[in-house]
Amino acid sequence: MRIYNTLNKKIEEFVPYNKNEVTLYTCGPTVYHYAHIGNLRTYIFEDILEKGLEYIGYNVKRCMNITDVGHMSSDADSGEDKMIKGAKREHKTVYEIADFYTKAFFNDADKLNIRRPKIIKKASEQIDMYIQMIEKLLKEDYAYIANGNVYFDISKAQDYYKLSGKNPDELIIGAREDVELDKYKRNPFDFGLWFTVSKYENQDMRWDSPWGVGYPGWHIECSGISIKYLGEHLDIHCGGVDNIFPHHTNEIAQSEAYLGHKWCNYWLHGEHLNDATGKMSKSKGEFLTVSLLENKGYNALAYRFFCLQSHYRNQLVFSYDALDIASNAYNKLLNKIKNIKDNLFGDIDKDIVFKYQNKFKEAIENDLNTSLMLTCLYDILKENVNNNTKLEIIKSFDTVLSLDLLEDKVNEISADLVKYIEEKIEERKIAKQNKDYEKADKIRKELEDKNIIIKDTREGTIYEVK
Ligand code: AMP
Ligand code: ZN
Repeated sequence: MRIYNTLNKKIEEFVPYNKNEVTLYTCGPTVYHYAHIGNLRTYIFEDILEKGLEYIGYNVKRCMNITDVGHMSSDADSGEDKMIKGAKREHKTVYEIADFYTKAFFNDADKLNIRRPKIIKKASEQIDMYIQMIEKLLKEDYAYIANGNVYFDISKAQDYYKLSGKNPDELIIGAREDVELDKYKRNPFDFGLWFTVSKYENQDMRWDSPWGVGYPGWHIECSGISIKYLGEHLDIHCGGVDNIFPHHTNEIAQSEAYLGHKWCNYWLHGEHLNDATGKMSKSKGEFLTVSLLENKGYNALAYRFFCLQSHYRNQLVFSYDALDIASNAYNKLLNKIKNIKDNLFGDIDKDIVFKYQNKFKEAIENDLNTSLMLTCLYDILKENVNNNTKLEIIKSFDTVLSLDLLEDKVNEISADLVKYIEEKIEERKIAKQNKDYEKADKIRKELEDKNIIIKDTREGTIYEVK
């Protein structure tokens, strides 16, 4: 397999540390709010990576953390603690917030057929590991105590900027004015490993440590959990591009200082999903969640399909128009497959199955090219071969694509969709009563774009989902 490695900034042949087992660590959600569909794009990419690696023959041991403590809103050590922000917003404890949004995250992930990693660990439950690491880092002089907190000294790291390729001088000039500089740090980019003295006096989550009662920094959590559960040599570490600096940069610095050798060989990063205004946000503009898409009548898997049409290393711009197009294409695809299922005949042609599986593997091995994977799927639909063979191949592809290609969901209407259609019909009725025919037509068109056909009868408006 050839994959783009952020560490070396090029496409490389993937060679795991152990021949048949790949260790994969993926940064998990910060559970202070719902995940937006941008966050979920990254988890879709990681899900396809895990399943793609399995498809080409590897056993994958994957671990993901749940960040329930220590993540500041700036990704560095300044700004407000995200969990505390969530707790204040909802007048709940940090534990209640973490519990609620962890469940919400997995609920969304389930809707998108994102498989749960085999190993999932809450950051707040691995304190001993962080303490053990920090003790060693202090002993070996990679870390220092200042004003009661423990910091990592980045000047001690080997080639600290190797992952990001950043230039420290530019970083200092570019540092945002609103980011408070901690006067106790030796270097502005030194980062907190353990906080005891902080402005967050009301932090609910705190533990005893050799340096006093406090809590870990966000970065040490991923290093600690990864090393504890996946070992000293990690094959692949993933996240979104925003994680490259400072999060993953800091993970490398402290892990390699702790281990005394190179830690992770391949760093894969998913590009962002943006909206028309730029970066997707949980606080500004429309907060795009999976439930919001469902409430607007979309199938969550149409969003997965939308993501798979583009390469994970390309930015993707979200718009409802673009989602409509993907949703239509997805429904058409399901219809075609349903037609195959309804007309099964012929013996499975093993040579054709083998040929297509190889083509599909090539797409995976080509830096996880999901749009090429979809092309393989469309090719088999057009292939001059019997339907049992087609179905066998589609079934095989769907172990990676996870688009529920074989389930008869085409005509299955969810409660959310029924609610959406009924609201639209009511809205159209009112528009017509107000003689606003333009609006009424617009609503009809909006429904048609989603394959919902409405018909006015004497008994009222009826609809059909195609
Ligand atoms: P967080 O819950 O903020 O820790 O983020 C969870 C994951 O979503 C991380 O891997 C981020 O890199 C990723 N992420 C954040 N924003 C976006 C976005 N707009 N598009 C894709 N991935 C994102
Ligand atoms: Zn992480």
